[in-house]
Amino acid sequence: MAYTLPELGYAYDALEPHFDAQTMEIHHSKHHQAYVNNANAVLENSPELQELAGGCPGKLLAHLHDVAPEKRPALRNNVGGHLNHSLFWKSLKKGTTLQGALKDAIERDFGSVENFKAEFEKAAATRFGSGWAWLVLENGKLAVVSTANQDNPIMGKEFAGCSGTPIFGLDVWEHAYYLKFQNRRPDYIKEFWNVINWDFANERFEKALAEVLLCHCDSDGCGGDNSSSPFSCFFR
Ligand code: MN
Repeated sequence: MAYTLPELGYAYDALEPHFDAQTMEIHHSKHHQAYVNNANAVLENSPELQELAGGCPGKLLAHLHDVAPEKRPALRNNVGGHLNHSLFWKSLKKGTTLQGALKDAIERDFGSVENFKAEFEKAAATRFGSGWAWLVLENGKLAVVSTANQDNPIMGKEFAGCSGTPIFGLDVWEHAYYLKFQNRRPDYIKEFWNVINWDFANERFEKALAEVLLCHCDSDGCGGDNSSSPFSCFFR
């Protein structure tokens, strides 16, 4: 079993002028590829982790407490990086509109879409150093959280400092914006609203709500594990 770099599903310049083609190309073909390579290097010599993972990166990250402490850092950074970026690419598309069940739930849990955006922007802007801002669903309620480095809310509070099923996340590492925005992270965050794929987000929200984000993905070497314990699989 080895992870592979997923296709973007669109051209590197598809998100212009909001997210630039050069950043997208380097981010996907160099940064994400490096996470994939390094994740594979860790798993190659760890048959016990391959078994635990069942081929699915989400399953591994959701069970970090079962991973030997000395192997955790490399897994968090690289399997986390692979998972986070795989979700990120799918969460980007120009020209979609927030509507449906997700819009209703955002208005219910944040008061208004504007309030939600302000809270998300603040989480993304104030994450010190490198990390991610997330919209998560937990116990039927939406919340905004952020994580450091390549941590993900599915790692749970013990590791990520927060929990929940990610609906979408925004990469706020400098490599995600520095070529176009330099030090202006808030401008990059604002542009995210022009490229967020609300259709995909709404789809994930409805699945998360129905608790059907089980591990039975058939991509990326997962092998169709029909685990009975719910956790968020990013490849469906
Ligand atoms: Mn990144």
